[in-house]
Amino acid sequence: MSVLIGIDLGTTNSCVSFMENGRAVIVPNAEGGRTTPSVVAFSRNGERLVGMPAKRQAVTNASRTFSSVKREMGSDRRYNVDGKPYAPQEISAMILRKLKSDAEAYIGEPVSDAVITVPAYFSDAQRQATRDAGVIAGLNVRRIINEPTSAALAYGFDKGQPCKIMVFDLGGGTFDVSILDINRDTIEVLATAGNNHLGGDDFDQCLVGYLLDLFRREHNIDLSKDVMAMQRLTEAAEKAKIDLSAAQEAVISLPFLAQGSSGPLHLETTVTRSRFNELTSHLVSAVKGPVLQALDDAGLKASDLSRVLLVGGSTRIPAVQDAVRSLTGKEPSRDINPDECVAMGACLQGGVLTGTINSIVLIDVTPLSLGIETLGDVFAKIIDRNTPLPCQHSQVFTTAANFQTSVEINVLQGEREMASGNKSLGHFRLEGIRRALRGIPQIEVTFSIDTNGIVHVSARDLSTGSSQNITISGSGNMSREEIDRAIRDADRYAEEDRQRREARQSESRSPKSTGSSGAGDDGAYDV
Ligand code: AMP
Repeated sequence: MSVLIGIDLGTTNSCVSFMENGRAVIVPNAEGGRTTPSVVAFSRNGERLVGMPAKRQAVTNASRTFSSVKREMGSDRRYNVDGKPYAPQEISAMILRKLKSDAEAYIGEPVSDAVITVPAYFSDAQRQATRDAGVIAGLNVRRIINEPTSAALAYGFDKGQPCKIMVFDLGGGTFDVSILDINRDTIEVLATAGNNHLGGDDFDQCLVGYLLDLFRREHNIDLSKDVMAMQRLTEAAEKAKIDLSAAQEAVISLPFLAQGSSGPLHLETTVTRSRFNELTSHLVSAVKGPVLQALDDAGLKASDLSRVLLVGGSTRIPAVQDAVRSLTGKEPSRDINPDECVAMGACLQGGVLTGTINSIVLIDVTPLSLGIETLGDVFAKIIDRNTPLPCQHSQVFTTAANFQTSVEINVLQGEREMASGNKSLGHFRLEGIRRALRGIPQIEVTFSIDTNGIVHVSARDLSTGSSQNITISGSGNMSREEIDRAIRDADRYAEEDRQRREARQSESRSPKSTGSSGAGDDGAYDV
């Protein structure tokens, strides 16, 4: 029998869950942890380390250790190791592969399928990259679902009274706020807003900046270029931050941090919660905009909400909880461990897909508007932000020049009125348009988005029937060949890694319209 797992592929930590006796159970990793650091390292001897072993050696191997890769998903960023460039999805696949093999070891069955969660604000390119990462890791990715939807499932909201809730998710690197409409057997995401670049890492960096200043004032030494010292400072800052969620003061002690003219220099200081709150107040304030926007997009007031769920490790910060209370006027719910509830919900969604659970239907929404570029750099929206998925919408466009027989379609995602202010997801060309004066041809452009949030676009000349379509794979994404190559690589390394592990164990006995454009002659416009 093969098992489906639910995976919360987090910026900082990842978590896995599977269904056991009708309940979602967290899978501990090989190191015994309930969450796994989303960190990958390449040791000097070519060994790959994933999770806690990678995090632990990050100080001594900082340039070959990669974390917060989720922030780069769907981008062109490459991680170069020994002359080989790795795409973010390849690094993420290494994490997923470990999660899969740890789950197999724990469950005692092969794991073939997975439901993987993504922040609700993730763009199409980022969702595609996440799916590709799963495929590279040897997983059959049954569905990509939004993290807040997943959290609501874990909280059992599918069984309760109809209500509207807010999911406030502040993790290590991303912030999402979502408004969900819970009905008897559907959970609909009414609105999502957030910031892909706000999370616990930023709180750590504020403390690091404070410690750097302190050290500079005391010893006149700038440690910001010292990789080793920076890694130690970052780790100490995160630990102090976590301590300050429970205590009013945290001691930071970093002996031998630098070498001064008269010997080694140490950093020893106490940070109070009120000082930490001062240093990070701008980050806490930054949650306000998305909270108000999500409520506004959903057409609700805070008083319409029944509950507010806290998700993500950074919601343990007392000042963050205070901000949620003051913005919503509600005492937030924290009944389920905020680090685990997303993975648990993903596995419950897996239960829906495999038929183990049959009471829930999930409706997600598109996080950003989608459309095409038309004459004069105008963005023509075809699907509005927050439209429930799956969805399909068409609009008819025409040509901008006489006797134009082809048009370039630039597929765009974003909220800006001007095409150039939005992100181009891809281009394609529709040829074979009937020769006619400008404004006569009718070109129907259809966008459809599937339940995973993956976008398909087609264009058709209504008189000739000539058509063309693409499935969007953003510029940062990998071609089918690249994915296949990465899968082969991953398989090869899996075997090498297995051999290494076994050797170690036996040694130690221990585990972008019609219309382009802008583009004058080649463009088209709405009819
Ligand atoms: P997640 O992405 O949900 O795993 O959240 C990870 C983030 O939560 C990291 O930045 C952690 O430092 C942070 N975190 C975990 N526990 C705490 C805590 N008790 N207080 C403050 N931040 C925490």
